[in-house]
Amino acid sequence: MSYTGPDFDPPPNPRSRRRPLTVAVAALVCGGLLGWGVYAATGGTDDDGAGARAEGSPSAPSRTPSQPASPSAGDTEGGGDEESPASRAPSASAPAAAGPLKGKVVVIDPGHNPANFRHTAEINRQVDVGTHRKECDTTGTSTDDGYAEAEFTLDVAHRMRAILQKQGATVKLTQDRDRPYGPCVDERARIGNAAKADAVVSIHADGSGAGNRGFHVILPGSVHEGEADTRAIVGPSSELGARIAGSFVRVTGTAPSNYIGGGTGLVTRKDLGGLNLSTVPKVFIECGNMRDGKDAALLTSAAWRQKAAQGVSEGIVSFLRG
Ligand code: ZN
Repeated sequence: MSYTGPDFDPPPNPRSRRRPLTVAVAALVCGGLLGWGVYAATGGTDDDGAGARAEGSPSAPSRTPSQPASPSAGDTEGGGDEESPASRAPSASAPAAAGPLKGKVVVIDPGHNPANFRHTAEINRQVDVGTHRKECDTTGTSTDDGYAEAEFTLDVAHRMRAILQKQGATVKLTQDRDRPYGPCVDERARIGNAAKADAVVSIHADGSGAGNRGFHVILPGSVHEGEADTRAIVGPSSELGARIAGSFVRVTGTAPSNYIGGGTGLVTRKDLGGLNLSTVPKVFIECGNMRDGKDAALLTSAAWRQKAAQGVSEGIVSFLRG
């Protein structure tokens, strides 16, 4: 992959996690699996891995108010249909509305930054992620038509923010096009920690080979090294991830990855600074593969992105409401 780097490396073999997570499937699975079961039957199987799945609670509203389109000029904006209706509000925490998530803090981490490519020296700077040192950040991938992952992640983050604020949550973004690059992966983790977030989700889309399709949620493995100590968050993060995976399937109707995670949509990793340095429940989601034409058609669809945001948000709501 040409976009490997911090929080975008090919994941390690998660085979060892298969057993416990598969057990969790039995405990948590309810509905929402019919769609991907059919889908998965047609998928490739060069995968392995582990996972669990649970359905989220369908408690979040399903619509985000439409806002003026704000096509970004030049550089990274490319293919796809209409541009995000969710525009460029400040990344600071917004006042929480009354709702079931009142008092809850959600941090959304839009992966990469649309301007990272202009700051290669800065984003290539090594940062300590506990287990090792790695690049501050990466540019992210894009579709073959040039729709940048960093635009996708911001768009989905804006849609999620609108959904979660309606539920009463206090929502903070780690970046909102309001900084020249980054933040670095260690800072992304620390933003969630400083916010004392009840849940953090890092939004991404993958850059795998054509034919590789579907989403996967990345859970923190148990790491205790240097500044990293995920032992307290492995359990709740696994639950958060399972709920997100379940609601993502149900709301989007799309299948878990056919190339990683053994069809479960869940993968555990110990190499991601954004997870290793988190002290609050946190997962990543790779919403699809930008380098596959069929997945790209979804990822560039504003209607699908709304579903993706709804699916992730419903998983968060389910996790936070217990
Ligand atoms: Zn990414």
